[in-house]
Amino acid sequence: MITCLNCGESFEGNFCPNCGQKSTVQKITVPVLAEETFHFFTHLEKGFLYTTWNFIIRPGQTSLNYLAGKRKKYQKPISYFLIWTGIYIIIHNLVVNHYHYQLTELSLVAYNLRDHANALLRKHFTLFLIPLVIVSSLIEYLLLGKPRFNFPEIVAVSIFGGGTYFMMLLVSDILFGAVLKVDILSTDVFLWQAILSSLYNFWFSFDFFKRIHLRYFWVRLISGAMLTALIGWVMLEYLPIAWIQLENLI
Ligand SMILES: [Zn+2]
Repeated sequence: MITCLNCGESFEGNFCPNCGQKSTVQKITVPVLAEETFHFFTHLEKGFLYTTWNFIIRPGQTSLNYLAGKRKKYQKPISYFLIWTGIYIIIHNLVVNHYHYQLTELSLVAYNLRDHANALLRKHFTLFLIPLVIVSSLIEYLLLGKPRFNFPEIVAVSIFGGGTYFMMLLVSDILFGAVLKVDILSTDVFLWQAILSSLYNFWFSFDFFKRIHLRYFWVRLISGAMLTALIGWVMLEYLPIAWIQLENLI
């Protein structure tokens, strides 16, 4: 019998049946730290990159696996989203600073509210995308998801989708900004990013909902995609304006 060093349970075997800790806990030494570091990266690679790849090529099947309880091989949604947005923000700023890209609207002395709002949107794109993920989840839930899935389930898979989208933006920034030397803060690149989001969103919901055999599948899918694009456009148009007006009030 072994006594678990974490919770005090007495047991036989390799893992504590009560808390899951390994029975062999080593004293912390340099080799142990080195091994742990190695394990962290190899494990991250398996779980994290595996999750990313699966959400690109089969987002629907991967989401259904995750919801059905196959959780161990995937990164959890919130940490997945935060890791990709974190890397995206760092690389995006590096590319922008290194190649001296700048928002032309911000350099003008007198610009109107709309240009100001647009500049604000592109500067804080990550922040504006979060309410968009929630709203698009609500549309998908009402039009396609319920009653089979509950709203938090749709939000969880949408957060995976949001993280994967930031990975795509990261690749796009490197390709356009660093390789092709295109100003990644320009309106054209922004338009491309909007198109990319619609395409990926459509691919994601198609691959997800085609597997659960809904009645009027195409009507629901297409109206969901159109509604998401429309509401997304309205939100990205007016949220920054609301922000500026709120700022002016304070
Ligand atoms: Zn234990």
